[in-house]
Amino acid sequence: MSTAARTRKPRRTLTPVTVTASYPSFRAGRVEAWSAVSDDGVWAYERLEMSGTPWSILHKPTGIEVGTWAGTLSEAREMTANGSALADVELQTAHQRGEHAERDPGCVKCS
Ligand SMILES: [Zn+2]
Repeated sequence: MSTAARTRKPRRTLTPVTVTASYPSFRAGRVEAWSAVSDDGVWAYERLEMSGTPWSILHKPTGIEVGTWAGTLSEAREMTANGSALADVELQTAHQRGEHAERDPGCVKCS
């Protein structure tokens, strides 16, 4: 009897959101989301009108934009669910407090 277990892709946790703007896409011929807010009101997601249409993530309590863009809304929601977006905001907050006298390699404001 085989004991090989089927490896399953880990389930991704996504922040629950409400889409606040969506428009029909001329290329895909379907409606696509362009902005959203998290249901807890902490995060605002905005699709950028530029090559690749990345998503920017805004931390509303601080007004800080996360230093890394996401490729899709799902990816952006994953970043806010898994804590990486908040870690980036905390890094930028520390920068604003002047705690990065020596350059922090993870900080978008230092680079
Ligand atoms: Zn910094």
